[in-house]
Amino acid sequence: MSYPQITFIHTSFPSSSPSFISRRRGVVYANTLLYQLNVLKETGRYDAFKLKWHDSYSDKPNVWPVPNHLFWDSDVAKWLEGACYFLMTEEGENEEIDGAVKELVQMIRGAQGEDGYLNIHFTVVEPAKRFTNLRDLHELYNAGHLIEAALAHSRHYQNDLLMEPLVKYVDLLYETFGPGPAQKHGYPGHPEIELALLRLYEKTGNPKHLSLAQYFITERGNPTGQYGRHYYDVEAEARGEGEHQVPAYMESKGAYWYHQAHKPIIEQETIEGHSVRAMYLLTAVADLVRVESKTDRDSYRKALQRLWSNMVDKKMYLTGGIGAMGQWEGFGLDYFLPSGSDEGGCYAETCAAIGVMMLAERLLQIDLDGKFADIMELCFYNAVMTGMSAKGTQFTYVNQLASSDKHLSQRAKWFTCACCPPNVTRLLGYIGGYLWSFDTDEQKKSVLVKVHMYSSAQLSISVGKDTVELEQKSNWPWNGKIELTLRGISEVATTIKLRIPGWAEGWEISPSLPSKHVEKGYLTLPADWLKHNPKFELNIPLKPRFVSPHPYTNQDIVALARGPLIYCVEDFDNSWVDDHFKSLLLDPTAAIEEKEGAADEVGEPYIGLTIRNAASFIDVDKSHAPHMSLKSATQEKASGADELHFIPYALRDNRGGKGHMRVGIRRKR
Ligand SMILES: [Zn+2]
Repeated sequence: MSYPQITFIHTSFPSSSPSFISRRRGVVYANTLLYQLNVLKETGRYDAFKLKWHDSYSDKPNVWPVPNHLFWDSDVAKWLEGACYFLMTEEGENEEIDGAVKELVQMIRGAQGEDGYLNIHFTVVEPAKRFTNLRDLHELYNAGHLIEAALAHSRHYQNDLLMEPLVKYVDLLYETFGPGPAQKHGYPGHPEIELALLRLYEKTGNPKHLSLAQYFITERGNPTGQYGRHYYDVEAEARGEGEHQVPAYMESKGAYWYHQAHKPIIEQETIEGHSVRAMYLLTAVADLVRVESKTDRDSYRKALQRLWSNMVDKKMYLTGGIGAMGQWEGFGLDYFLPSGSDEGGCYAETCAAIGVMMLAERLLQIDLDGKFADIMELCFYNAVMTGMSAKGTQFTYVNQLASSDKHLSQRAKWFTCACCPPNVTRLLGYIGGYLWSFDTDEQKKSVLVKVHMYSSAQLSISVGKDTVELEQKSNWPWNGKIELTLRGISEVATTIKLRIPGWAEGWEISPSLPSKHVEKGYLTLPADWLKHNPKFELNIPLKPRFVSPHPYTNQDIVALARGPLIYCVEDFDNSWVDDHFKSLLLDPTAAIEEKEGAADEVGEPYIGLTIRNAASFIDVDKSHAPHMSLKSATQEKASGADELHFIPYALRDNRGGKGHMRVGIRRKR
């Protein structure tokens, strides 16, 4: 049982061998943390825990009934959490970040009510309405992020200055929510506190923390939870909500699939609703089945498998993005995966892909299967990393696979609802915890290391008095050569499992292994082999390849991939484009050339891809519309694009241009 937010501390990124990951981390530490801190200050978030009135509190909500400032607690909390991770791992002092963390902690402590309550909106703006709208108003979501911030803070500062008020707040929540007759039988509309409470329980061992998490998870979707009715129905009625009053993000009154609360989790057949909520909830479910034996583990495990498969097989974009529907920021019908908003929708929120990574990591711990790690890596290098600019000061919320005039491929400086930018910050803070996991047995003096993602990094594990170190050196994801060195194993039986990605067409290891059997995506290097071969090299050729979505998506498109990276075309390299590449046809039998691109363009020395003489354009004869003749539909006009240039989707929109971009290009038949 481990959490990447805990284990990342065992990983370092030596400056002598920089990598994509260490460069992205370097950008966050050098630019993003301070940039976001300044935005928190400029927008009023930083001082909000002083509990003074802010002019924006009287703004009309962009989306009824959610006040625009409702998430401020969590914006601050996520920044705090990320800042603490970086302070833990980066060398040297950082007075500005450190000072801000300390000041924020004092403000948060001062914002707590005598009974333990801790929330900006319901203390300053609507104090009489606390816990009256769990469905919409994010009180418990904010609490969850504050708990996660407190866990990171206590780890770095080795004090309880932030933990203390949060534990007190959880005491109040424990009294307020539960199965007792005087308690509310509710649970958060936006899950987050469940996974935070389980992490808190790991630190405190306090059974109340586990029990409350378990209650929120198992009570969710109970059709008769409060007075024989659904909790959200009873709650809405108590608020005097009109029969036809429905938030814009809900399809209709009582459509609680938006919150994954339409039925108990173990009865849910398909993944539905708001995608970030779904990922945070299922991450907590995975944690619960790992830690709690009384819960119906088997049913929850089956639900996890079922919902994961439904998501990956039928509701995930080529980039790892999830959520086609803008209205509810979430999942559509099976196989409904349009590329952009002028083609029916595409949302793929950055936070949702971060959530997929969280869930995949937990599922890997339950069942070491490379299919989870493949998705985790796909999300990281595409749907997540596209969320931040090269300089680390611009961000995305929505990550469409094709731009349109309405939604150009452009990042923004910030958002009113700013969940995504600080989420990327904190993820990169503890990304080391995703690269590998390990199990130690002090009595047997043994360790098992499972390498999930390749990069340049060093893992250091204590086994009794010994320290085992595993170093990987690689220019991943640009180069598939990984040099691994194991140290300190003379007294410790060390076994390694190396992930062989599902997309790999081949791989080699040297010195050679007696058995090259790959089980569920992992190659085992036995302890006796490693004793004689502490230095070894894995080679996974990274050849460009064409990929396409499931035919049932009715997306007759092809995209370029290389290793874990998905590529796109941008107008910057293909300046002739004037229709977001909508009419472009691509011949998937074409040869693909690689070309090195300069770091100063996109913050990363990258490999671009070029295809020559394979592009053509649709030129439809509409004279008999709506009937197109098969012949006219395939008619081509002279290409204006002898060369098509592709860049990794993660690096898009860093070089200017007019914002035309596309991942999947219509396949030429
Ligand atoms: Zn977000």
